[in-house]
Amino acid sequence: MNCPRCATLLNTVECTEPSAPVEVDVCMECEGIWFDEGELDKLEQIVEPQFVEIRQLPSKELQEMALVCPSCPTTEIMEKKRHDRDEQVIYDECSNCKGIWLDGGELRAIQQEHWGKTIVRLGRWLIGK
Ligand SMILES: [Zn+2]
Ligand SMILES: [Zn+2]
Repeated sequence: MNCPRCATLLNTVECTEPSAPVEVDVCMECEGIWFDEGELDKLEQIVEPQFVEIRQLPSKELQEMALVCPSCPTTEIMEKKRHDRDEQVIYDECSNCKGIWLDGGELRAIQQEHWGKTIVRLGRWLIGK
């Protein structure tokens, strides 16, 4: 699967946490993350809401750019959705496979004071420790 933003091959990262078997696909180039249907919900349960608390956003043009679903064999254009917790956050959801794309800027935009802790927890979670 390739990044919908920069076409780089996505790296699959597996979570071995038994309570939350999640597999995400990460772009090492632009740091965007692809979640298959339901995976973002599982992730939010593990890493706390800070993970999606976004205070600075990628540029409007980037957010509004139409992206093609990386998972569907067709060229399915993903829908722009607003996050329930913060309506300024726009993410892309594929109406066909229900996958979700979060841009790297959206992840990095998380409040700085929470970011350190969150990324450590996320990192541990991602490598299954
Ligand atoms: Zn990318
Ligand atoms: Zn799709």
